[in-house]
Amino acid sequence: MSRPLRVAVVGAGPAGVYAADILTKSDVDVQIDLFEKLPAPYGLVRYGVAPDHPRIKGIVGALQKVLDKPQVRFFGNVEYGVDVKLDDLRQLYDAVVFSTGASADRSLDIPGIDLPGSYGAADFVSWYDGHPDVPRTWPLTATSVAVLGVGNVALDVARILAKTADELLVTEIPSNVYEGLASSPVTDVHVFGRRGPAQAKFTPLELRELDHSPNVEVIVHAEGIEFDEASMAAIRSNKQVEMIVKTLQEWAIRDVGNRPRRLHLHFLEAPVEVLGSDRVEGLRTETQELTGDGSVRGTGVFTDWDVQAVYRAVGYLSTHLTDIPFDHVSGTIPHRAGRVLDLDEVPMPGVYVTGWIKRGPIGLIGHTKGDALETVTSLLEDAASLPRATSASPDAIVQFLEQRGVPFVTNEGWRKLDLHEMALGAAEGRERVKVVSREEMTAISNG
Ligand SMILES: Cc1cc2nc3c(=O)[nH]c(=O)nc-3n(C[C@H](O)[C@H](O)[C@H](O)COP(=O)(O)OP(=O)(O)OC[C@H]3O[C@@H](n4cnc5c(N)ncnc54)[C@H](O)[C@@H]3O)c2cc1C
Repeated sequence: MSRPLRVAVVGAGPAGVYAADILTKSDVDVQIDLFEKLPAPYGLVRYGVAPDHPRIKGIVGALQKVLDKPQVRFFGNVEYGVDVKLDDLRQLYDAVVFSTGASADRSLDIPGIDLPGSYGAADFVSWYDGHPDVPRTWPLTATSVAVLGVGNVALDVARILAKTADELLVTEIPSNVYEGLASSPVTDVHVFGRRGPAQAKFTPLELRELDHSPNVEVIVHAEGIEFDEASMAAIRSNKQVEMIVKTLQEWAIRDVGNRPRRLHLHFLEAPVEVLGSDRVEGLRTETQELTGDGSVRGTGVFTDWDVQAVYRAVGYLSTHLTDIPFDHVSGTIPHRAGRVLDLDEVPMPGVYVTGWIKRGPIGLIGHTKGDALETVTSLLEDAASLPRATSASPDAIVQFLEQRGVPFVTNEGWRKLDLHEMALGAAEGRERVKVVSREEMTAISNG
């Protein structure tokens, strides 16, 4: 090919950025345009990872280095399916990689789950992480709250609900989030897991972190600390499970202190109904017993918990993209080694997928790297035979967006916002304070 291979990456979360990085490190002469629907890059690193996890948020430093590479251009505030479609990208690029992640909540099919006061974790996470597309206020009026699920996201949500606003003021939370959390009268946060301690999905680090707040007493309810044969096998064979179980066992028998707020961990309690007529007034759970193989069955013993809000943290879900096949059951784009498959399971020429929308919403940021490598390897294997873009000039996309009046944000523009947020933070002795409104973000970037 006499000109560089032109690749569009759609979605500037870690998967998309890693894909761009791997492409730039290949032997192939390549130019990459990274499209992102938000005015800021980094996906769930910016809008998912909890604000009190600054070490993880620090990954943005490495991701920014990729955006700064001469072969990479950033086009923020450009939404695939709205501002640009597959046919447009095919005219302008030799290959398109979709890395649009997951941002919606999986549903939970129990009565009452749609009552006011019952929320999806993803919406709450978006709020406390200052996502521009969610309302600025969050109704934090409950004194007792239930969190359904025992993964890392459930623990993030429970921890943010339980900590005081002042504890979080050292982080990058915007002022509307600080004010919302400061108004919260919460005293008790109950986390419910359907299965046993050995089947919990969170990591030992995330679990132990719960205990670091001077304002939160972590209480493990001993009734749920049960193990069957499969649990014992998991403890013996998996160091992480062993560490989790050891911590939970220690916490289950220790004396309860007098910190003002309590975070309760309940295992073997399956939520069966959110109670209330006009809004959440309680939660009914059914006690479970382990069946020997690590799964559970109901015991017929029910408990009603006095809670006024319910947060379900039962998984994230990807969204169907225009003109791209989608498996609605798994919530992923069908693919073979990252090559997107059409309805006849034949690879769509020049169309690839990576990240959470490829393999589902599981795994940490680091996992998206190996995933991107597989996809980019497939792309590079195909490179010589890809159908060529008809308008391959690098200026063509700029003209395309300008003609349509899309107020896109470049890497330079994003860096202006980045510096602005850091300056806001510096004024308060914090690393950063996030700007939330899309209009303000775009105005600062393009100002
Ligand atoms: C609440 C939460 C906390 C987490 N905490 C941690 C943690 O502490 N440590 C850790 O290692 N991992 C953590 N993770 C996991 C980590 O965030 C994911 O592994 C990773 O972000 C997945 O990367 P991705 O690029 O596939 O998707 P995403 O990060 O979701 O990025 C996708 C990007 O695509 C963009 N996009 C979507 N649709 C379009 C469109 N139509 N057009 C253009 N752009 C689009 C989105 O705006 C987004 O920027 C957490 C996840 C969640 C949900």
